[in-house]
Amino acid sequence: MKSTKLALLLFLFVSMGAFAQQEEPTKPEATEFYEPVPPVVTPGKNGSAPSDAIVLFDGSNLDAWESTRGEGGAAPWTINKDGSMTVANRTGDIRTKQSFGDVQLHIEWSSPKKVMGSNQSRANSGVFLQERYEVQVLDNNDNPTYVNGQVGSIYKQAIPLAMASVPTGEWNSYDIIYHAPKFDALGRVTKKGTITVLHNGVLIQDHHKILGTTEYIGWPKNIRHGKAPIRLQDHGDNSRVSYRNIWVREL
Ligand code: MG
Repeated sequence: MKSTKLALLLFLFVSMGAFAQQEEPTKPEATEFYEPVPPVVTPGKNGSAPSDAIVLFDGSNLDAWESTRGEGGAAPWTINKDGSMTVANRTGDIRTKQSFGDVQLHIEWSSPKKVMGSNQSRANSGVFLQERYEVQVLDNNDNPTYVNGQVGSIYKQAIPLAMASVPTGEWNSYDIIYHAPKFDALGRVTKKGTITVLHNGVLIQDHHKILGTTEYIGWPKNIRHGKAPIRLQDHGDNSRVSYRNIWVREL
């Protein structure tokens, strides 16, 4: 009996305290807020850049890009009349001149209509976030390969949730939400980076926690870095992938 009374007293004490801290609102206005007011962003039409985006490629020039070879210099890939650009095989990767942290990235790509090569040697390219973490680009249509290296994989670390490619030669889109990893002064990861990818509107990477850098051989590595460019891959063999309509929003 005594313990029951004590428990009751304790319950009353705790619940009264809780109510004192945060009383249940009795009017609808009490849970309606008017600030901070979100900025107005005018959306683009048919995947084109919204008003607050940084346009990285609109078909007119490669001014936002540079070569990754030697001293850098002009990006050596080919601009086409249809507003796209194509990997110039064996000229090396290209990267943005600007460095980025957290971003929303829109990019469209297509494999050449003429099918050449197989497995990882068929229209292999890739979008490297901060030059380190690759979202794989590959013509996977009737072209099986290891699943953690297939189209839409985070290369060798995350199998995509679906294979959502359009037919070879048609345009795919990637919409990528990227949060960069955070490091402490000693270079240890204090917060893992994350990658979310929609492939033609289909969720294929769902907030994947980055394990480390993309490595062809060996395990992912974690080495402290700050903002860094977005890099597009020239895989070197049968990799004449085309890109168009590339824009980014800094988050
Ligand atoms: Mg690749």
